[in-house]
Amino acid sequence: MSTHKHHTGLIDRYRDRLPVSANTRIISLNEGNTPLIQLYNIPRLIGKDVDIYVKFEGLNPTGSFKDRGMTMAVTKAVEEGSQAIICASTGNTSAAAAAYAARAGIKAFVLIPDGKIAQGKLAQTLMYGAEIIQINGNFDKGMALVKEIADHAPVTIVNSINPYRIDGQKTAAFEIVDDLGFAPDYHCLPVGNAGNITAYWKGYKEYATDRVCSTRPVMCGYQAAGAAPFLAGHPIEDPETIATAIRIGNPQSWDYAWAAQKESGGWFEKFTDEQILAAQKMLSQYEGIFCEPASAASLAGALHDIALGNIPEGSKIVCTLTGNGLKDPDTAIAQCAAAHPVTIEATLDAVKRAILDCL
Ligand SMILES: *Cc1c(COP(=O)(O)O)cnc(C)c1O
Repeated sequence: MSTHKHHTGLIDRYRDRLPVSANTRIISLNEGNTPLIQLYNIPRLIGKDVDIYVKFEGLNPTGSFKDRGMTMAVTKAVEEGSQAIICASTGNTSAAAAAYAARAGIKAFVLIPDGKIAQGKLAQTLMYGAEIIQINGNFDKGMALVKEIADHAPVTIVNSINPYRIDGQKTAAFEIVDDLGFAPDYHCLPVGNAGNITAYWKGYKEYATDRVCSTRPVMCGYQAAGAAPFLAGHPIEDPETIATAIRIGNPQSWDYAWAAQKESGGWFEKFTDEQILAAQKMLSQYEGIFCEPASAASLAGALHDIALGNIPEGSKIVCTLTGNGLKDPDTAIAQCAAAHPVTIEATLDAVKRAILDCL
């Protein structure tokens, strides 16, 4: 007899740990259940005895972890009778909000920074049929406007200040423990608005409290050098980084993220765009895993802290890869410009020569 169970989304899977009832109409695209992939070649390459796993959240329905939060936020918005949702976004939140609104049959308004959104995210948001409001300002400005507008128009905010977003996203920690059979020693992830580090810590704490796992990981939050308010110790004015998903200067989950850092014995660190892009390329080239730039901050950070011994040999490490590399084709192609294909004659001889030249 088959024990196969069709995965019908994270709310269905973890409904006992989420704020839904038997009567709740669940708005889902079967998100979650993403692969936890062990890296083989990179640990060998760096010559360290560490187990590194990546949680590839880029394989969610809209290509980022935002789907975890959005299934919960939209489910609750619909349950509460809302006809419209709104968010500020660097791109992935708007894609997820637009998709789940389409699924629910409600309207989505998204505020995006003018010209600073990756092409794939824009394409998705347009196709799902959201109302796009492009603003002359960055994410932080959009976030401030969204917080104000909710008092003036009948719209539900679905940014991660919506607590249901955090509830949905904490399920990624559950999945990791359920897959491994234990909690990792270190959990590394990029930090932008800081909702995700808040959510993971909540999930790990909940499982540890209920004795599903006996330990909790040290939380390591990594930022882009040009957008690193947690390293500065205060919000910053004009965040800048090629990793647009974490181009945020005024994180909304500021206190929760600090709590996760303190309670777990963890730390924040920052990396240059060059370091982030190098990690993104490394993961693609050596492991066949293509994530977006912001996501690679987790691996850049893990490798840095392994090299320094902050993460000792023998450790079990999970890095969250927050989004799919296909989200931002322009950055990928620009990075590989040197390897741009040359055109040759369409003859057997020319192709043969091209191959033999490379071997
Ligand atoms: C949203 C996002 C982040 C940052 O997550 P926060 O919860 O805002 O800290 C990182 N990477 C990607 C790809 C994202 O979409």
